Amino acid sequence: MTAETFTVNVLDRPDHEAAAEFSWGDKIYTIETSANVTLRNTATAWLPPATIMAMKKDLPLHIDSTVDPKTLKGANEAQQLLHSWWPEELHEINIDATANTPSPKSSRGIGCFFSGGLDSFYSAITNAPKITHLIFVHGFDIFLNSTEHYNSALDAMRATAEEMGKTLIEVRTNIVHTVGHGRDWMLAHGAAMAHVALLLSDHLNSAIIPASHYVDNIVPHGSHPDLDPLWSSTSLSFVYDGIEANRAEKALRASTSRTALKHLRVCFWNRSDIQNCGECEKCVRTAVNMRIAGASDKFTAIPTTDLIKSISRVEFKRDNEKYFLAENIRALEQSDRADPDLLNALVTASSRSTSQKARALLWSNYIYAKMTCILIGQKSRGSLSGLHQRLGKVQ
Ligand SMILES: [Zn+2]
Repeated sequence: MTAETFTVNVLDRPDHEAAAEFSWGDKIYTIETSANVTLRNTATAWLPPATIMAMKKDLPLHIDSTVDPKTLKGANEAQQLLHSWWPEELHEINIDATANTPSPKSSRGIGCFFSGGLDSFYSAITNAPKITHLIFVHGFDIFLNSTEHYNSALDAMRATAEEMGKTLIEVRTNIVHTVGHGRDWMLAHGAAMAHVALLLSDHLNSAIIPASHYVDNIVPHGSHPDLDPLWSSTSLSFVYDGIEANRAEKALRASTSRTALKHLRVCFWNRSDIQNCGECEKCVRTAVNMRIAGASDKFTAIPTTDLIKSISRVEFKRDNEKYFLAENIRALEQSDRADPDLLNALVTASSRSTSQKARALLWSNYIYAKMTCILIGQKSRGSLSGLHQRLGKVQ
């Protein structure tokens, strides 16, 4: 009897598409990725996500065709790191794959993953002179069935790329359907970005991954400065970028860009009618960032008519919400801006009385119900992704 393995079988596809079967036990999933440019559909691009999934299932990994030697070595180093972070969840496994002969190096571009968020804009603006391509992926934070929301975001990303003088690479992938949502996606989303970039090796020498964490707040995560570079190949390197700046500092940099002030996309809700709701914690947090940066009057990306009132209606209940609230108080106190109304609103929000907490909870529930109704109203147009993401449900 053959022991169970996790197997990757690369499938033939036309130039702009890539696909592979991931199978274990009696399960077979086909992952498909496509783009508006040609893709290099080698087994190398499937190694990062397959490694994470095989580790999660504690199964030896077999790959049916050759892989880049550097990525293979890196995958084994990545295993050690991931296992040290999450020993109960990610197990060290054997990778059965043959290293190929690397293709000769050639001069290509530098890409930057670009969702339109603050981390993306910071990295794109900071590295603008060397970046040639922005990479926008449909299937990561915007679900594939959210066509209307995606098209609206795509318009903004195309305008952004044009204004910044960069080529926009538009990618579509169903990888999350196989990898999984929630915690599974947290573990594997860095490997999913590596998958996309390795497919783009004919166009890119390196891919910038905008940091989602600040140097003082680095924790084990699926995208991490010690992990992401390990997925590099002999022809493409990964650079984890922007760790030196906290969110307030990133906003200060983004506030110097008219493009960012117009096209920033941060909202939790993924509504198809507007990019940012202006009422959720992340929208309010970012509007506060821009007010501290002195850019409120030019910041059209997020609709907030009364920011002070909006702050009082956010619960700031989760740890990361409290963290960013405290970060904004520090940023305002350390800035040369005199904004007592904003400072008072932020400080009050960080130490509310029982009645203030109750009012914030009521408003938060009202906003939640309102957004849910709006998203249900958009259901006929296939735009439930915001609701699914907010509820943490699998699509
Ligand atoms: Zn929002």
